[in-house]
Amino acid sequence: MYNLLKKVILCSVVLLLMVIPNISLAKSSVNVEKISHNLMTSEQGDTYLHIEINTNREVKNFSIQENPNNKYQLIFNIEDAQISNISRQEKLDGNIAKKVFLQEKKDTVQGKIYLQEEVNNNYKIYSLGKKGIAIDIFNSVVNTPVASDVALSNVKNKIITIDPGHGGSDSGAVGPNGYTEKEGTFAISQKVASILNQSGAKVVMTRDSDVDVYGPNASARNELQARVDVGNNANSDIFVSIHCNAFVNPAANGTQTFYYGSSYQGQRLAQSIQEKMIEANGLRDRGISTCNFYVVKHSYMPAVLIETAFITNYDEEALLSDDEWQTTMAKAIAEGINEYFSN
Ligand SMILES: [Zn+2]
Repeated sequence: MYNLLKKVILCSVVLLLMVIPNISLAKSSVNVEKISHNLMTSEQGDTYLHIEINTNREVKNFSIQENPNNKYQLIFNIEDAQISNISRQEKLDGNIAKKVFLQEKKDTVQGKIYLQEEVNNNYKIYSLGKKGIAIDIFNSVVNTPVASDVALSNVKNKIITIDPGHGGSDSGAVGPNGYTEKEGTFAISQKVASILNQSGAKVVMTRDSDVDVYGPNASARNELQARVDVGNNANSDIFVSIHCNAFVNPAANGTQTFYYGSSYQGQRLAQSIQEKMIEANGLRDRGISTCNFYVVKHSYMPAVLIETAFITNYDEEALLSDDEWQTTMAKAIAEGINEYFSN
């Protein structure tokens, strides 16, 4: 009996000792002391935005969710927390997200992340132990950097303007399954740019998102001149416009490259790109042709317009929308450009 009493008292004291510090600590909540961010690359090669919220102690209760009223926002909560004397706003990369904004709501620190694209479920929140918490946001819009299989040493320091055809209010041609030319041209162009950049070229894009270059619903002349201006103002060595072909007959197929009639260098550029593309994609070789296309005619430097494949052809539309095929084409175009600069 005495022993039992001793145990009960001992346990009570131990319990009390465990409870007291918790009561006294309840007031000293988590302090948010720093926000930082950087772009990272996953093992699969995907780019993602990594945001760290540094705190003075481990965060026990945290969560993240999409803002039900705004699909361009993520909201995260850190319970029993407050913000130290720091800036409550952090500018983010601008490509995946614009900024994160912190505020105190009773005993909770709430953060809002303003995204560039709609929430697509590609985000996660996790503990960094005593350092705080981290949020990773992946975005399908950010293209995986691709590397060429061969060294493209000739493009080093060359100024190359890449013009992804159409964009913004102008979808370009549309395939039987609804894939748009502006999507295909942009995906391939970004990959070409990535390869050339990695090889030391100075790449200039006429557009680096889904926008009109001059402005929405502009006249064709204004829109095309705006693209030409990008290449001319950058003092580019070459101008490469990337498109998808279209025709009323869905059987039309193949790959073709155009250059301006009197330009010998344009012809050389068209020839080397066309050869590499046909080698790589195995599609029907429609050869190279002269043309009067505005962007090719008005660029001061050798310029070409590539018709990668027919988006109006059922099979080729499927290729154009395929990430792997886009990469194959991008590599071929970059190799063709490298070949052009070889002499
Ligand atoms: Zn086009």
